[in-house]
Amino acid sequence: MNSFFKIDDKLIALANKAESECKDAFAHIDEVAQYNGMKVLAAFTQNNVSETALHGTTGYGYNDLGRETLDKVYAQAFGGEDALVRHNFVNGTHTLSVALFGVLRPKDKLLMLCGAPYDTLEEIIGKRGEKGSGSLMDFGIEYEEVELLKNGMPDLERISERVKDAKVAYIQRSRGYSTRPSYTVDDIEKMIKTVKESNPNAIVMVDNCYGEFVEKKEPLDVGADLIMGSLIKNPGGAIASTGGYIAGRKDLIELCANRLTCIGMGKEIGATLNQNREMFLGFFLAPEIVSAALKTSEFACRLLSLLGFESLPKAGEKRADIIASVMFKNEKTLTSFIRGIQKGAPIDSYVTPEGWDMPGYDSKVIMAAGAFTMGASIELSCDAPIREPYAAWLQGGITYPTGKAGVLLAVQNMIDEGEISL
Ligand SMILES: *Cc1c(COP(=O)(O)O)cnc(C)c1O
Repeated sequence: MNSFFKIDDKLIALANKAESECKDAFAHIDEVAQYNGMKVLAAFTQNNVSETALHGTTGYGYNDLGRETLDKVYAQAFGGEDALVRHNFVNGTHTLSVALFGVLRPKDKLLMLCGAPYDTLEEIIGKRGEKGSGSLMDFGIEYEEVELLKNGMPDLERISERVKDAKVAYIQRSRGYSTRPSYTVDDIEKMIKTVKESNPNAIVMVDNCYGEFVEKKEPLDVGADLIMGSLIKNPGGAIASTGGYIAGRKDLIELCANRLTCIGMGKEIGATLNQNREMFLGFFLAPEIVSAALKTSEFACRLLSLLGFESLPKAGEKRADIIASVMFKNEKTLTSFIRGIQKGAPIDSYVTPEGWDMPGYDSKVIMAAGAFTMGASIELSCDAPIREPYAAWLQGGITYPTGKAGVLLAVQNMIDEGEISL
């Protein structure tokens, strides 16, 4: 390492110790990647992905073989009847918005099972923002949240009670900018069982962002009706330039397609331009890319815990997503770590991150993002709302060697700026 970057010998010794403590976790990550790699390969071969499918269409995009086949590949790998995988989804939030507006009708009730949802959903729902903007509440949709238990887990008893008259029961797998645990597929299964026992007609939607391929099962395998996510996170495999997906029940996917394009046209149109090859290749690589991100995260949690910083999840804990949040206790230490991550980015390593008012978020956010795809958080990246408890959300790393190097450079930056000493 020292021949390429200036890293203290003491830090290298500590990193070696951290890495040796990751052995069991890494073995588990490899096993899951092997399973999911086979699962994705089977979805390719059994749906006859052909060379022609890699090329796209222009104009209306009728009979786009790539688009139609990619939907089948996603559906099979994620355990759904159908899927809607499109570069036209502008981000993950857009997939959530399309699913909610696609399925809900006036007077329907939307019930959040896991407390307050991800920040960017607030304006879509109408909890925040201007009346008349066209939110779900503007359209007469009822909205309720079930508060989490003190330990951050869902309150199954109250869910059972309040889901009785709900049209949609909504679960968020990853924690977003909160400090609750992310939910494993087992946790999600318990919530779904509770919902379906109390109200078999309730439609269960899962915000699957950052969870794809972390475990052998996905939420559709345990009874969810729809899952949604972003292609510049896990399933795009760092290759997709933009986009998102919705997968699940066929009738619901049709409603979502009507909302994304037009009623009467649904899934049958939409030129893919030159995006098919990227989306196929990214999905093919995704299990392996996710394993690199998980190893980077595990290594970071180990190393930072040896330095006295707490993380969520703790090193060695069962993972539900690729995210770790690390508590840095004050703004200066937090900023020093984030700027260090930027120094290890392959792109824009020389820039200095500053906090800014990011659209959709209600406090300033600082982020290290030096990625091949703008904002891609499957690539090593770190972001933090500048507020208590000064936690940094660390995610990504598309190869373990470079992810590990990025984490080491971040810690070295904290040493250089006097925030820690070894
Ligand atoms: C990333 C994320 C989203 C979507 O965010 P976009 O920036 O719109 O892609 C939604 N929910 C959760 C929990 C997330 O982590």
